[in-house]
Amino acid sequence: MTYVIYQCAFILIETVTHNNYKNPLFISTGVHEALELRDNVKGEYHGKGVLTAIKNINSIIAPELLKQNLEVTQQKEIDQFMLGLDGTENKSKLGANAILGVSLAVAKAGAAKKGVPLYKHLADLAGNNDIVLPVPAFNVINGGSHAGNKLAMQEFMILPTGASSFSEAMRMGSEVYHHLKKIIKEKFGLDSTAVGDEGGFAPNILNNKDALYLIQDAIQQAGYSGKIEIGMDVAASEFFKNGTYDLDFKNPKSNPADYLSSEKLAEVYLDFIKDFPMVSIEDPFDQDDWAAWASLTSRTPIQIVGDDLTVTNPKRIATAVEKKACNCLLLKVNQIGSVTESIDAHLLAKKNGWGTMVSHRSGETEDTFIADLVVGLSTGQIKTGAPCRSERLAKYNQILRIEEELGAAAKYAGKNFRRPV
Ligand SMILES: [Mg+2]
Repeated sequence: MTYVIYQCAFILIETVTHNNYKNPLFISTGVHEALELRDNVKGEYHGKGVLTAIKNINSIIAPELLKQNLEVTQQKEIDQFMLGLDGTENKSKLGANAILGVSLAVAKAGAAKKGVPLYKHLADLAGNNDIVLPVPAFNVINGGSHAGNKLAMQEFMILPTGASSFSEAMRMGSEVYHHLKKIIKEKFGLDSTAVGDEGGFAPNILNNKDALYLIQDAIQQAGYSGKIEIGMDVAASEFFKNGTYDLDFKNPKSNPADYLSSEKLAEVYLDFIKDFPMVSIEDPFDQDDWAAWASLTSRTPIQIVGDDLTVTNPKRIATAVEKKACNCLLLKVNQIGSVTESIDAHLLAKKNGWGTMVSHRSGETEDTFIADLVVGLSTGQIKTGAPCRSERLAKYNQILRIEEELGAAAKYAGKNFRRPV
Protein backbone atom coordinates (compact mmCIF):
# COMPACT_ATOMS: atom_id res chain seq x y z
CA MET A 1 0.00 0.00 0.00
CA THR A 2 2.88 2.31 0.73
CA TYR A 3 4.07 1.77 -2.81
CA VAL A 4 0.66 2.68 -4.20
CA ILE A 5 0.62 5.90 -2.21
CA TYR A 6 4.11 6.82 -3.40
CA GLN A 7 3.24 6.14 -7.02
CA CYS A 8 0.04 8.15 -6.82
CA ALA A 9 1.69 10.95 -4.91
CA PHE A 10 4.38 11.38 -7.57
CA ILE A 11 1.76 11.61 -10.28
CA LEU A 12 -0.52 13.86 -8.29
CA ILE A 13 2.13 16.26 -7.15
CA GLU A 14 2.64 16.99 -10.81
CA THR A 15 -1.08 17.63 -11.11
CA VAL A 16 -1.34 19.93 -8.16
CA THR A 17 1.78 21.90 -8.90
CA HIS A 18 1.46 22.19 -12.65
CA ASN A 19 -0.89 25.07 -12.23
CA ASN A 20 0.72 28.44 -11.71
CA TYR A 21 -2.45 30.49 -12.01
CA LYS A 22 -2.81 32.59 -8.89
CA ASN A 23 0.29 31.00 -7.39
CA PRO A 24 1.09 33.20 -4.39
CA LEU A 25 4.79 32.87 -5.15
CA PHE A 26 4.28 34.66 -8.41
CA ILE A 27 1.06 36.63 -8.12
CA SER A 28 0.26 38.47 -4.94
CA THR A 29 -3.03 36.88 -3.94
CA GLY A 30 -1.68 36.76 -0.41
CA VAL A 31 -2.49 34.63 2.57
CA HIS A 32 -5.98 33.40 1.66
CA GLU A 33 -4.88 30.63 -0.69
CA ALA A 34 -2.81 27.60 0.39
CA LEU A 35 0.80 27.93 -0.70
CA GLU A 36 2.17 25.94 -3.62
CA LEU A 37 5.81 25.37 -2.85
CA ARG A 38 8.07 26.08 -5.81
CA ASP A 39 11.85 25.72 -5.85
CA ASN A 40 12.35 29.27 -7.09
CA VAL A 41 15.71 28.27 -8.58
CA LYS A 42 16.45 30.63 -11.42
CA GLY A 43 17.36 28.75 -14.59
CA GLU A 44 15.43 25.61 -13.64
CA TYR A 45 11.86 25.27 -14.88
CA HIS A 46 11.60 29.08 -14.83
CA GLY A 47 11.89 28.87 -11.05
CA LYS A 48 8.75 26.78 -10.80
CA GLY A 49 10.32 23.38 -10.06
CA VAL A 50 8.73 21.26 -7.32
CA LEU A 51 11.70 19.15 -6.22
CA THR A 52 11.52 20.59 -2.69
CA ALA A 53 7.85 19.61 -2.40
CA ILE A 54 8.68 16.08 -3.58
CA LYS A 55 11.56 15.91 -1.12
CA ASN A 56 9.18 16.98 1.65
CA ILE A 57 6.94 14.02 0.78
CA ASN A 58 9.77 11.49 0.74
CA SER A 59 11.84 12.67 3.67
CA ILE A 60 9.24 14.16 6.02
CA ILE A 61 5.61 13.25 5.26
CA ALA A 62 6.10 9.59 4.26
CA PRO A 63 8.23 8.43 7.22
CA GLU A 64 6.17 10.36 9.77
CA LEU A 65 2.87 9.19 8.29
CA LEU A 66 3.94 5.55 8.20
CA LYS A 67 4.83 5.71 11.91
CA GLN A 68 1.18 6.49 12.66
CA ASN A 69 -0.01 3.09 11.41
CA LEU A 70 -3.16 4.54 9.92
CA GLU A 71 -5.24 2.77 7.29
CA VAL A 72 -5.48 4.43 3.86
CA THR A 73 -9.25 4.59 4.37
CA GLN A 74 -8.72 6.97 7.32
CA GLN A 75 -8.67 10.04 5.12
CA LYS A 76 -9.62 12.51 7.83
CA GLU A 77 -6.99 11.28 10.30
CA ILE A 78 -4.28 11.25 7.64
CA ASP A 79 -5.13 14.76 6.43
CA GLN A 80 -5.28 16.05 10.00
CA PHE A 81 -1.93 14.48 10.78
CA MET A 82 -0.34 16.21 7.78
CA LEU A 83 -1.85 19.56 8.77
CA GLY A 84 -0.34 19.16 12.23
CA LEU A 85 3.00 18.15 10.77
CA ASP A 86 3.02 21.29 8.64
CA GLY A 87 1.79 23.51 11.46
CA THR A 88 1.21 26.67 9.39
CA GLU A 89 -2.11 28.19 8.40
CA ASN A 90 -1.44 28.15 4.65
CA LYS A 91 0.65 24.93 4.42
CA SER A 92 3.75 26.96 3.65
CA LYS A 93 6.19 24.71 5.53
CA LEU A 94 5.70 21.46 3.60
CA GLY A 95 3.83 23.00 0.65
CA ALA A 96 0.13 22.60 -0.17
CA ASN A 97 1.22 20.75 -3.31
CA ALA A 98 3.10 18.16 -1.22
CA ILE A 99 0.21 17.72 1.24
CA LEU A 100 -2.50 17.63 -1.44
CA GLY A 101 -0.49 15.18 -3.58
CA VAL A 102 -0.43 12.72 -0.68
CA SER A 103 -4.03 13.47 0.28
CA LEU A 104 -5.32 12.71 -3.24
CA ALA A 105 -3.15 9.58 -3.41
CA VAL A 106 -4.54 8.37 -0.09
CA ALA A 107 -8.11 8.87 -1.38
CA LYS A 108 -7.32 6.76 -4.45
CA ALA A 109 -5.63 4.10 -2.33
CA GLY A 110 -8.58 4.14 0.11
CA ALA A 111 -11.04 3.49 -2.71
CA ALA A 112 -8.82 0.67 -4.00
CA LYS A 113 -8.61 -0.89 -0.56
CA LYS A 114 -12.42 -0.82 -0.20
CA GLY A 115 -12.80 -2.11 -3.77
CA VAL A 116 -15.15 0.72 -4.74
CA PRO A 117 -14.92 3.46 -7.38
CA LEU A 118 -13.26 6.67 -6.21
CA TYR A 119 -16.50 8.70 -6.45
CA LYS A 120 -18.22 6.18 -4.16
CA HIS A 121 -15.40 6.39 -1.60
CA LEU A 122 -15.59 10.21 -1.68
CA ALA A 123 -19.39 10.05 -1.30
CA ASP A 124 -18.89 7.86 1.81
CA LEU A 125 -16.33 10.28 3.25
CA ALA A 126 -18.80 13.16 2.74
CA GLY A 127 -21.84 11.23 4.03
CA ASN A 128 -23.59 11.55 0.66
CA ASN A 129 -26.05 8.77 -0.22
CA ASP A 130 -27.53 10.24 -3.37
CA ILE A 131 -25.29 10.18 -6.45
CA VAL A 132 -26.08 12.89 -9.04
CA LEU A 133 -24.09 13.69 -12.19
CA PRO A 134 -23.19 17.36 -12.72
CA VAL A 135 -24.12 19.89 -15.36
CA PRO A 136 -20.91 20.70 -17.24
CA ALA A 137 -20.19 24.43 -17.55
CA PHE A 138 -18.16 24.65 -20.77
CA ASN A 139 -15.95 27.70 -21.03
CA VAL A 140 -16.28 28.49 -24.74
CA ILE A 141 -15.10 32.12 -24.97
CA ASN A 142 -12.05 33.36 -23.09
CA GLY A 143 -11.12 36.91 -22.14
CA GLY A 144 -9.40 38.40 -19.12
CA SER A 145 -5.70 38.50 -18.39
CA HIS A 146 -5.04 35.03 -19.84
CA ALA A 147 -6.34 35.83 -23.33
CA GLY A 148 -4.65 38.00 -25.94
CA ASN A 149 -7.85 39.77 -26.98
CA LYS A 150 -9.42 42.99 -25.66
CA LEU A 151 -12.19 41.25 -23.74
CA ALA A 152 -12.06 42.05 -20.00
CA MET A 153 -14.36 39.39 -18.57
CA GLN A 154 -12.56 36.07 -18.23
CA GLU A 155 -14.96 33.21 -19.07
CA PHE A 156 -18.20 32.81 -20.99
CA MET A 157 -19.73 29.40 -20.34
CA ILE A 158 -22.61 27.29 -21.65
CA LEU A 159 -24.57 25.02 -19.29
CA PRO A 160 -26.77 22.38 -20.97
CA THR A 161 -29.29 22.34 -18.13
CA GLY A 162 -32.04 21.12 -20.48
CA ALA A 163 -30.25 17.88 -21.35
CA SER A 164 -31.72 14.66 -20.02
CA SER A 165 -28.36 13.04 -19.22
CA PHE A 166 -24.70 13.92 -18.83
CA SER A 167 -23.85 12.31 -22.17
CA GLU A 168 -26.54 14.35 -23.91
CA ALA A 169 -25.11 17.47 -22.24
CA MET A 170 -21.70 16.59 -23.69
CA ARG A 171 -23.20 16.21 -27.16
CA MET A 172 -25.05 19.52 -26.91
CA GLY A 173 -21.97 21.32 -25.60
CA SER A 174 -19.67 20.02 -28.29
CA GLU A 175 -22.15 20.79 -31.08
CA VAL A 176 -22.62 24.37 -29.88
CA TYR A 177 -18.84 24.72 -29.49
CA HIS A 178 -18.30 23.82 -33.15
CA HIS A 179 -21.11 26.09 -34.34
CA LEU A 180 -19.41 28.85 -32.37
CA LYS A 181 -16.11 28.06 -34.08
CA LYS A 182 -17.77 28.43 -37.50
CA ILE A 183 -19.42 31.72 -36.53
CA ILE A 184 -16.14 33.14 -35.17
CA LYS A 185 -14.25 32.00 -38.28
CA GLU A 186 -16.77 33.72 -40.56
CA LYS A 187 -16.75 36.97 -38.56
CA PHE A 188 -13.14 37.30 -37.43
CA GLY A 189 -11.08 34.93 -39.61
CA LEU A 190 -9.44 31.58 -39.02
CA ASP A 191 -6.74 32.89 -36.65
CA SER A 192 -9.46 33.88 -34.17
CA THR A 193 -10.34 30.22 -33.69
CA ALA A 194 -7.08 29.40 -31.86
CA VAL A 195 -7.97 28.25 -28.34
CA GLY A 196 -6.86 29.48 -24.92
CA ASP A 197 -5.64 27.53 -21.86
CA GLU A 198 -9.11 26.25 -21.07
CA GLY A 199 -10.05 25.46 -24.65
CA GLY A 200 -12.31 28.45 -25.33
CA PHE A 201 -11.98 30.79 -28.30
CA ALA A 202 -10.60 34.28 -27.85
CA PRO A 203 -11.99 36.48 -30.66
CA ASN A 204 -10.70 40.03 -30.53
CA ILE A 205 -13.80 41.78 -29.26
CA LEU A 206 -13.96 44.51 -26.63
CA ASN A 207 -17.66 44.57 -25.81
CA ASN A 208 -18.51 41.77 -23.37
CA LYS A 209 -22.09 41.69 -24.59
CA ASP A 210 -20.85 40.76 -28.08
CA ALA A 211 -19.43 37.52 -26.63
CA LEU A 212 -22.90 36.72 -25.30
CA TYR A 213 -24.46 37.40 -28.71
CA LEU A 214 -21.95 35.04 -30.37
CA ILE A 215 -22.85 32.31 -27.89
CA GLN A 216 -26.57 32.94 -28.31
CA ASP A 217 -26.20 32.60 -32.10
CA ALA A 218 -24.27 29.35 -31.72
CA ILE A 219 -26.92 27.89 -29.38
CA GLN A 220 -29.62 28.90 -31.87
CA GLN A 221 -27.80 27.40 -34.86
CA ALA A 222 -27.31 24.15 -32.97
CA GLY A 223 -31.06 24.08 -32.27
CA TYR A 224 -30.74 24.15 -28.48
CA SER A 225 -32.40 27.47 -27.59
CA GLY A 226 -34.11 27.09 -24.23
CA LYS A 227 -32.06 24.01 -23.37
CA ILE A 228 -28.70 25.66 -22.78
CA GLU A 229 -28.16 28.46 -20.29
CA ILE A 230 -25.21 30.80 -19.90
CA GLY A 231 -22.70 31.40 -17.13
CA MET A 232 -19.73 33.73 -16.69
CA ASP A 233 -16.59 34.07 -14.64
CA VAL A 234 -15.82 37.77 -14.67
CA ALA A 235 -12.68 37.61 -12.47
CA ALA A 236 -13.30 41.30 -11.77
CA SER A 237 -10.35 41.67 -9.36
CA GLU A 238 -8.17 41.65 -12.47
CA PHE A 239 -9.53 44.98 -13.66
CA PHE A 240 -10.29 46.69 -10.34
CA LYS A 241 -8.45 50.02 -10.16
CA ASN A 242 -8.72 52.33 -7.15
CA GLY A 243 -12.31 51.47 -6.40
CA THR A 244 -13.46 51.36 -10.04
CA TYR A 245 -13.58 48.80 -12.84
CA ASP A 246 -11.67 49.24 -16.12
CA LEU A 247 -13.32 47.14 -18.83
CA ASP A 248 -10.53 48.17 -21.23
CA PHE A 249 -7.74 47.14 -18.80
CA LYS A 250 -5.59 45.43 -21.40
CA ASN A 251 -5.18 48.78 -23.15
CA PRO A 252 -2.43 50.72 -21.34
CA LYS A 253 -4.04 53.94 -22.59
CA SER A 254 -7.54 53.14 -21.35
CA ASN A 255 -9.56 56.21 -20.42
CA PRO A 256 -10.19 56.61 -16.65
CA ALA A 257 -13.36 58.51 -17.51
CA ASP A 258 -14.78 55.21 -18.81
CA TYR A 259 -14.04 53.21 -15.64
CA LEU A 260 -17.21 51.93 -13.99
CA SER A 261 -18.29 52.25 -10.37
CA SER A 262 -19.51 49.09 -8.60
CA GLU A 263 -23.09 50.32 -9.08
CA LYS A 264 -22.63 50.84 -12.83
CA LEU A 265 -20.98 47.41 -13.21
CA ALA A 266 -23.92 45.83 -11.36
CA GLU A 267 -26.21 47.47 -13.96
CA VAL A 268 -24.16 45.78 -16.71
CA TYR A 269 -24.79 42.38 -15.10
CA LEU A 270 -28.50 43.04 -14.55
CA ASP A 271 -28.72 43.99 -18.23
CA PHE A 272 -27.03 40.67 -19.21
CA ILE A 273 -29.45 38.76 -16.96
CA LYS A 274 -32.41 40.52 -18.60
CA ASP A 275 -31.27 39.90 -22.18
CA PHE A 276 -29.73 36.40 -21.99
CA PRO A 277 -30.49 33.08 -20.26
CA MET A 278 -27.83 33.91 -17.66
CA VAL A 279 -27.86 31.59 -14.64
CA SER A 280 -24.45 32.02 -13.00
CA ILE A 281 -21.94 34.85 -12.53
CA GLU A 282 -18.61 34.21 -10.77
CA ASP A 283 -16.46 36.93 -9.21
CA PRO A 284 -18.56 39.85 -10.48
CA PHE A 285 -16.58 42.28 -8.27
CA ASP A 286 -13.19 42.60 -6.66
CA GLN A 287 -12.50 40.15 -3.83
CA ASP A 288 -12.68 42.91 -1.19
CA ASP A 289 -15.59 44.91 -2.65
CA TRP A 290 -17.96 43.15 -0.22
CA ALA A 291 -20.80 45.70 -0.36
CA ALA A 292 -21.05 45.41 -4.15
CA TRP A 293 -21.24 41.60 -3.90
CA ALA A 294 -24.00 41.69 -1.29
CA SER A 295 -25.97 44.27 -3.26
CA LEU A 296 -25.93 42.26 -6.52
CA THR A 297 -26.76 38.99 -4.73
CA SER A 298 -29.80 40.63 -3.18
CA ARG A 299 -30.98 42.04 -6.52
CA THR A 300 -31.06 38.84 -8.60
CA PRO A 301 -32.22 35.26 -8.08
CA ILE A 302 -29.41 33.82 -10.23
CA GLN A 303 -26.31 32.09 -8.88
CA ILE A 304 -23.48 34.37 -7.74
CA VAL A 305 -20.25 32.39 -7.33
CA GLY A 306 -17.26 33.18 -5.11
CA ASP A 307 -13.84 32.10 -6.36
CA ASP A 308 -11.27 34.85 -5.75
CA LEU A 309 -13.69 36.00 -3.04
CA THR A 310 -13.72 32.76 -1.05
CA VAL A 311 -10.65 30.79 -2.32
CA THR A 312 -12.16 27.55 -0.87
CA ASN A 313 -11.17 28.88 2.56
CA PRO A 314 -13.60 28.24 5.47
CA LYS A 315 -12.90 31.66 7.03
CA ARG A 316 -13.57 33.52 3.80
CA ILE A 317 -16.68 31.37 3.20
CA ALA A 318 -17.96 32.19 6.70
CA THR A 319 -17.46 35.92 6.07
CA ALA A 320 -19.24 35.67 2.72
CA VAL A 321 -22.14 33.83 4.38
CA GLU A 322 -22.38 36.48 7.08
CA LYS A 323 -22.32 39.33 4.55
CA LYS A 324 -24.69 37.48 2.15
CA ALA A 325 -22.08 38.22 -0.52
CA CYS A 326 -22.75 35.23 -2.78
CA ASN A 327 -24.64 31.95 -2.90
CA CYS A 328 -22.25 29.46 -4.48
CA LEU A 329 -18.77 28.20 -3.68
CA LEU A 330 -16.23 27.56 -6.39
CA LEU A 331 -14.39 24.48 -5.09
CA LYS A 332 -10.73 24.09 -6.08
CA VAL A 333 -8.86 21.38 -4.20
CA ASN A 334 -5.50 23.10 -4.52
CA GLN A 335 -6.77 26.39 -3.11
CA ILE A 336 -7.32 24.66 0.23
CA GLY A 337 -4.87 21.76 -0.08
CA SER A 338 -6.42 18.50 1.20
CA VAL A 339 -9.34 16.19 0.41
CA THR A 340 -10.88 16.48 3.89
CA GLU A 341 -10.81 20.27 3.86
CA SER A 342 -12.31 20.30 0.34
CA ILE A 343 -15.20 18.12 1.50
CA ASP A 344 -15.65 20.30 4.60
CA ALA A 345 -15.70 23.48 2.49
CA HIS A 346 -18.47 22.00 0.35
CA LEU A 347 -20.44 20.87 3.40
CA LEU A 348 -20.09 24.33 4.96
CA ALA A 349 -21.39 25.94 1.76
CA LYS A 350 -24.25 23.44 1.55
CA LYS A 351 -25.23 23.92 5.19
CA ASN A 352 -25.67 27.61 4.44
CA GLY A 353 -27.90 27.01 1.44
CA TRP A 354 -25.23 27.68 -1.16
CA GLY A 355 -24.47 25.68 -4.29
CA THR A 356 -20.99 24.32 -5.06
CA MET A 357 -19.32 24.34 -8.45
CA VAL A 358 -16.27 22.07 -8.64
CA SER A 359 -13.52 23.59 -10.76
CA HIS A 360 -10.34 22.79 -12.65
CA ARG A 361 -7.51 25.35 -12.83
CA SER A 362 -6.22 27.11 -15.92
CA GLY A 363 -3.03 25.04 -15.64
CA GLU A 364 -4.04 21.37 -15.60
CA THR A 365 -2.90 17.80 -16.23
CA GLU A 366 -4.84 14.75 -17.35
CA ASP A 367 -5.57 13.71 -13.76
CA THR A 368 -9.32 13.21 -13.29
CA PHE A 369 -9.73 13.42 -9.51
CA ILE A 370 -12.17 16.34 -9.68
CA ALA A 371 -14.52 14.33 -11.92
CA ASP A 372 -14.94 11.74 -9.17
CA LEU A 373 -15.13 14.51 -6.58
CA VAL A 374 -18.04 16.33 -8.24
CA VAL A 375 -19.96 13.07 -8.56
CA GLY A 376 -19.08 11.86 -5.05
CA LEU A 377 -20.22 15.12 -3.47
CA SER A 378 -23.16 15.44 -5.93
CA THR A 379 -22.63 19.18 -6.12
CA GLY A 380 -24.50 19.32 -9.45
CA GLN A 381 -22.07 21.46 -11.43
CA ILE A 382 -18.49 21.36 -12.71
CA LYS A 383 -16.44 23.71 -14.84
CA THR A 384 -13.48 22.10 -16.47
CA GLY A 385 -13.07 23.96 -19.74
CA ALA A 386 -14.37 23.70 -23.27
CA PRO A 387 -15.07 20.34 -24.91
CA CYS A 388 -11.53 20.58 -26.29
CA ARG A 389 -7.92 19.84 -25.13
CA SER A 390 -7.19 16.45 -23.57
CA GLU A 391 -6.56 17.70 -20.04
CA ARG A 392 -10.09 19.20 -20.01
CA LEU A 393 -11.76 16.28 -21.80
CA ALA A 394 -10.09 13.80 -19.43
CA LYS A 395 -12.43 15.01 -16.68
CA TYR A 396 -15.54 14.98 -18.87
CA ASN A 397 -14.62 11.51 -20.17
CA GLN A 398 -14.31 10.21 -16.61
CA ILE A 399 -17.83 11.46 -15.83
CA LEU A 400 -19.07 9.72 -19.00
CA ARG A 401 -17.47 6.49 -17.73
CA ILE A 402 -19.15 6.93 -14.35
CA GLU A 403 -22.50 7.53 -16.06
CA GLU A 404 -22.05 4.34 -18.08
CA GLU A 405 -21.15 2.40 -14.95
CA LEU A 406 -24.20 3.71 -13.07
CA GLY A 407 -26.45 2.67 -15.95
CA ALA A 408 -30.14 3.08 -15.19
CA ALA A 409 -29.28 4.50 -11.75
CA ALA A 410 -27.54 7.55 -13.32
CA LYS A 411 -29.25 10.83 -12.47
CA TYR A 412 -28.36 14.14 -14.16
CA ALA A 413 -28.65 17.38 -12.18
CA GLY A 414 -30.10 19.41 -15.09
CA LYS A 415 -32.17 22.41 -13.96
CA ASN A 416 -31.48 21.48 -10.31
CA PHE A 417 -27.74 22.07 -10.72
CA ARG A 418 -27.66 24.52 -7.77
CA ARG A 419 -29.26 22.15 -5.23
CA PRO A 420 -29.32 18.64 -6.69
CA VAL A 421 -29.56 16.82 -3.35
MG1 LIG B 1 -12.54 32.21 -11.30
